[in-house]
Amino acid sequence: MAGELILIVEDNEKNLKLVRDLLQFRGYRTLEAATAGEGLRLAVEHRPDLILMDIQLPDLDGGAALGRLRADPGTAGICVVALTAQAMGGDRERLLGAGFDGYLTKPISIREFPDQVRHFCERARPGG
Ligand code: MN
Repeated sequence: MAGELILIVEDNEKNLKLVRDLLQFRGYRTLEAATAGEGLRLAVEHRPDLILMDIQLPDLDGGAALGRLRADPGTAGICVVALTAQAMGGDRERLLGAGFDGYLTKPISIREFPDQVRHFCERARPGG
């Protein structure tokens, strides 16, 4: 299971480092971007197995970035999970409706996060 490449798009440096450290500790390879633009560039270049996408980013909204990924045949099939701070009523439905494959709220659970990611990665496997 280890070794999948996960792209983390998150503009909060502390959150980014926490997520990266938790994933690397579990054996995942990571790519990191602090803006949607950089995330899109890395996604096209590296075709990660999974993208963890913050919603509030300095340049593009995470939902808009998702739209660009889905519009490009090279990145359209990547599993993209929203990472968002607020758990407002209706958020989950709105994000899943926008086409995200999953949804995790921040602050993330240090104990549960790696298993949540593994679950998303397994679902994202071709034919799985
Ligand atoms: Mn943010």
